[in-house]
Amino acid sequence: MKTQSLHKRESTLAQSKRQLEILSNGIFQNGELPTFKSKISETNQFPLKAKKLEILQINIGYMCNQVCEHCHVDAGPDRQEIMTKETMQQCLYVIKNTGAHTLDLTGGAPEMNPNFRWFIEEAAKAGIKDFIVRSNLTIIRANKKYYDLPEFFKKHNVHVVSSMPHWTRGKTDKQRGDGVFDKSIKALQELNAVGYGMPDSNLRLDLVYNPSGAFLPGDQASMEKDFKKALLEDFGIQFHNLFAITNLPISRFLDYLIASENYEDYMYALVEAYNPSAVANVMCTNTLSVSWEGYLFDCDFNQMLELPVSSKIKHISEYNEELLEGRNIVISQHCYGCTAGAGSSCQGTVA
Ligand code: SF4
Ligand code: SF4
Repeated sequence: MKTQSLHKRESTLAQSKRQLEILSNGIFQNGELPTFKSKISETNQFPLKAKKLEILQINIGYMCNQVCEHCHVDAGPDRQEIMTKETMQQCLYVIKNTGAHTLDLTGGAPEMNPNFRWFIEEAAKAGIKDFIVRSNLTIIRANKKYYDLPEFFKKHNVHVVSSMPHWTRGKTDKQRGDGVFDKSIKALQELNAVGYGMPDSNLRLDLVYNPSGAFLPGDQASMEKDFKKALLEDFGIQFHNLFAITNLPISRFLDYLIASENYEDYMYALVEAYNPSAVANVMCTNTLSVSWEGYLFDCDFNQMLELPVSSKIKHISEYNEELLEGRNIVISQHCYGCTAGAGSSCQGTVA
């Protein structure tokens, strides 16, 4: 059966409150497993504190041309939430007036926001040099209005970070939908053709791997070797780095865990793989996440769980570096996904 967003299915899990109840009750309430707070307290790392802002990660809309099985955003074609130009202008003001060096655009498919290109052009004028766009690849082939995206990315030296769960058609299409693999391969070849991902190129093309089931990712370096070998041999594709990301137990992945009766085993696996040295570098310590409406969160996962920053500053229009720096990060049991094994962030492992 084709995946639909939790919103479209009118699932109770579409409500973040319900997800947080699941993450706080059961095995964590009865003491079978320690809460994340008690775990990080063992090494005196509670409360987790935000450091200086380096990366502004902006979710410019939940609309997507895909409906992947494990999407933590619950994105899909039915989602209408899209950031307005006015909110983008507020983000630009912050970017111009802080030491943040990286603008990280995510979604949904960020390219589907009608002001996506305007935003990048304005941010380039504002002096931002380091842009990340989290592209699902298939958007480049979804409609002819997107066919020139590789050239557009090149013009602004955008760092393209793309999901690619496997180098085989079967595993990729199972997680991301029928036909995704073939379109992704074509898009990667088009990115290579304009210079992205080539060994000496400064046009960065990185891929993101996330497991296709209720298990943790393997070793990032050895997976990168396997991906590089297979994609080069089979399709002549090159890329720079592979980021191995752990699926966090929220949204559609939480729904999958519950439906497949893997939720408790997965939480046990995350807690068993807890690595205290990954805690210091979790991405919320140097990143701020902005929602399509301009509200501020410690990370994209907290945004989806509707856990706002612990500060009197709640919106990008009120941004105040002094008041936000040093704030306590809002945590729950989903945070175990960032500290398992070698740790996990939007840039792959952290430990
Ligand atoms: S491409 Fe990304 S945002 Fe879109 S449904 Fe898949 S995981 Fe979610
Ligand atoms: S889920 Fe978010 S708040 Fe929790 S550790 Fe990961 S980045 Fe930080």
